[in-house]
Amino acid sequence: MTLSASSLLDKAARGERLDHSEVTALYSLPLPDVAAVAHELRLARTDPEVVTFLIDRNINYTNICNVGCNFCAFYRTARQKDSYVLDYEQISHKIRELEAVGGSRILMQGGVNPQLGLEYYTGLLQHIKRHHPTIRIEAFSPEEVLFMEKAFGLDLDTLLDTLIQAGLDGLPGAGGEILEDEVRANAAPARIRSHDWFRILDAAQRKGLYTISTMVIGFGESHAQRASHLLKIRDQQDRSLQLYGHGFAGFAMWTLQTEHTRLHGKAPGASAHEYLQQLAIARIALDNQPNIQASWPAQGFKVAQAALYYGASDLGSTMLEENVVSAAAGHDRHNATVRELVRIAADAGFRPMIRNSFFQPIARPDVEALLRPVHQEQPVGAD
Ligand code: SF4
Repeated sequence: MTLSASSLLDKAARGERLDHSEVTALYSLPLPDVAAVAHELRLARTDPEVVTFLIDRNINYTNICNVGCNFCAFYRTARQKDSYVLDYEQISHKIRELEAVGGSRILMQGGVNPQLGLEYYTGLLQHIKRHHPTIRIEAFSPEEVLFMEKAFGLDLDTLLDTLIQAGLDGLPGAGGEILEDEVRANAAPARIRSHDWFRILDAAQRKGLYTISTMVIGFGESHAQRASHLLKIRDQQDRSLQLYGHGFAGFAMWTLQTEHTRLHGKAPGASAHEYLQQLAIARIALDNQPNIQASWPAQGFKVAQAALYYGASDLGSTMLEENVVSAAAGHDRHNATVRELVRIAADAGFRPMIRNSFFQPIARPDVEALLRPVHQEQPVGAD
């Protein structure tokens, strides 16, 4: 039986689980109505007064990649002049900059670089743990893990055990995009398929690694395909919570950026309106994931701030050095400062809190001091 719009919204507002056709139907409803429900659920599922963020750094250890996704402006072939592989000391230097601003984790990912052997990865993890013992290492997308499985001839369990032994703390769920293979094949024929993405994330969760779920919209996917993506994520979360006692720590969603990519002019991307709609629907559909991030790298600070009323409870992280989304977005914003994230949260009426990877608050920033005008006028007569 198909529910009327008001019955569907009432059901969602009660926090009842929606099926695929009901989630798909949300896309046809007025956005203010969907947003109001999403915001109520956000207030009920997380601390209603608080917006969290993390101080971290992105490190892209290599930009050489042989997958060649059509939507990627970051990767290079080994023959290109600006291709690179960072050595351990270069990576240490970046981590020291993070330590200097009180950061607690690195998000370390790179291209699929066939020149690198297993010893590069294990040596890198060991080096970081030895020289930066307080920094959590959340690293390697499922695409990179799939490459390592094949290139090094290791089964997934052995590979993950080897990386964990060397120092890996988490496996970010990058590369989720839309977990429908028809969409993936059009956007990137050689891209990891959804089955492998879930297989690798499930193994990581089974081994107790930190993970998050992700989504990117704007490939030209249908609303039904977006709904399928959300429900697959929700199913995996159910499974992981039931079997392993923990699951995705949070959900991050952003819009496809196509500047400088082969998809430029071929994929529609997504407007701010669509982004906010998708975020609100994710909040409603993902009833088992309380921590939902707003995305400032793709949408900018103003839309990220608005997102705090469309279901988001978190501003992601400072990033210090974001290279992948910004390359395809055609802008050079690579990071956010603590002050900027504090201002976004405070101006929207929330209490900003610094969190750890697991979305637990760890420090309350001094909002008054951070937001005090930097150039206060000197009083008359002052020297
Ligand atoms: S998105 Fe990742 S896997 Fe695809 S081309 Fe870029 S670096 Fe390679």
